[in-house]
Amino acid sequence: MNNPKQFDPSQHIQITDITENPRGLLSRIESFFVRQKDRLIWVHAMMFVVFVALIFLPLFLSEPSEQASPLDHFTEFANYAMWGLWFPLVLLSVVFTGRSWCGLLCPMGAASEWANKKGPQFAIPGWLKWQGTPIVSFILVTTLGQTVGVRDHPEAIALVFGGTLGMAILIGFFFGRNKRAWCRHACPIGLLLGVFSRVGAIQFTPKRPKPGCEGYTEKGICPTMIDISRKQESRHCIECFRCVNPKAKGGLALRARRPGLEIENIHDHNPNSAEVWFLFLGIGSALGGFLWLVLDLYQQWRLDVAGWFIDHELWWIGDAGPWWLMSVHPERREVFTWLDFIMIVGFMSLCAIALAAILWCMTALCAKLSEALSQSDHYPPLTLKQRMIELGYQYAPVALVSLVLGLGAELFEPLRLIGLDSIGISWAKGTFFVMSLLWSVFLGNKILARQGVAAYQRWLPLVPGVAGSSVIATLWWLALFN
Ligand code: SF4
Ligand code: SF4
Repeated sequence: MNNPKQFDPSQHIQITDITENPRGLLSRIESFFVRQKDRLIWVHAMMFVVFVALIFLPLFLSEPSEQASPLDHFTEFANYAMWGLWFPLVLLSVVFTGRSWCGLLCPMGAASEWANKKGPQFAIPGWLKWQGTPIVSFILVTTLGQTVGVRDHPEAIALVFGGTLGMAILIGFFFGRNKRAWCRHACPIGLLLGVFSRVGAIQFTPKRPKPGCEGYTEKGICPTMIDISRKQESRHCIECFRCVNPKAKGGLALRARRPGLEIENIHDHNPNSAEVWFLFLGIGSALGGFLWLVLDLYQQWRLDVAGWFIDHELWWIGDAGPWWLMSVHPERREVFTWLDFIMIVGFMSLCAIALAAILWCMTALCAKLSEALSQSDHYPPLTLKQRMIELGYQYAPVALVSLVLGLGAELFEPLRLIGLDSIGISWAKGTFFVMSLLWSVFLGNKILARQGVAAYQRWLPLVPGVAGSSVIATLWWLALFN
């Protein structure tokens, strides 16, 4: 007789279903982009001009007055366009359309690929292929952004975004053969969008999938080196439509899916420890970039550290450093010293390490409980490390929404037009937060189901996962609403 508590994971598994999507609309989208493929270069050229104007033009304009708004001064407009529109909207767009920004609009990726056609096309070196390269790139850019004041000063926007554009062109020029080595291996924004594209409602799926793991090849047509017939995951796909031909029997096809489905079934979509480390470290680093501005504790530590340097007669700590390393704008009453630089870098690093340690512990506990409670016979059996990596993805929604709220606070300002005051806007952000937290719990529950934990026991391993998501949400709440 069957044990009523016996758990059968096969009844709970919901593999990504590519057969039931409404094909009419998707076929029309495919056909449209395939037809327009050759005209995409003009879109990229236009985006390049707009991007260059937004990051460099303010350097040549007069200083905006304190009352200036995006409607009456280009510098204010450029700042709003970058932080109020571009960044949050691109982040949000991955939920609906995956990395469409990368393939269809991004001027940096297009410039990198264009440069590649002109360059010596050296083989992509090992250091660039290293999985940690984009993580280091993200942490460096986020930290530099804070020390130079990228959200407040046009010079800093020019330095950070101009520098990133320059690196994209340089790496593209030297490495890869008709590929986007920068986009696949080094772009800090691409890594971010890649992780979150896994929750996206769009995927490109092989029409004739070959067995085996997700592959990497520099020989095919894919600019981000995906072996397209073995494609399993969304994160490297920039949605360029080059492998799509609605009339062909092979190649990839555009499919719709429920947002989050790839993470629910992350077991089938090449879960990756580097990506989870990025989620853990990157979110803490970005969070630290906000917390140092609002925490009294930071100010206290700053005074203590300053006191130590003064006691040891190390006076250089009070000097301003170079403009390309820290904010030096006496005309705007903001001059950072070496003390500020050391404190901001140290504090952001500490936040990254501390949050990563907390999330690691929570996820390890979650995985241990999953292992103990699992009733399924996976073949080959899931190791504790595999369970941990899979469960690390449950934090993606709460991390995504935190970043949207943190880096794109201005996105909510238009809500004033429909009569919401500051409290109403805070409520709107808070609701957004709670929804992301619930989504993270939902994903944790689904991942545990795939790992063979029966529904009536899942609450136990979910507790550390909920605790981890709550830590992220609480810290961002402190940073944003303090
Ligand atoms: S990976 Fe980076 S540079 Fe490449 S297309 Fe995406 S955002 Fe642009
Ligand atoms: S898999 Fe296809 S759509 Fe995705 S990046 Fe590669 S060629 Fe472009």
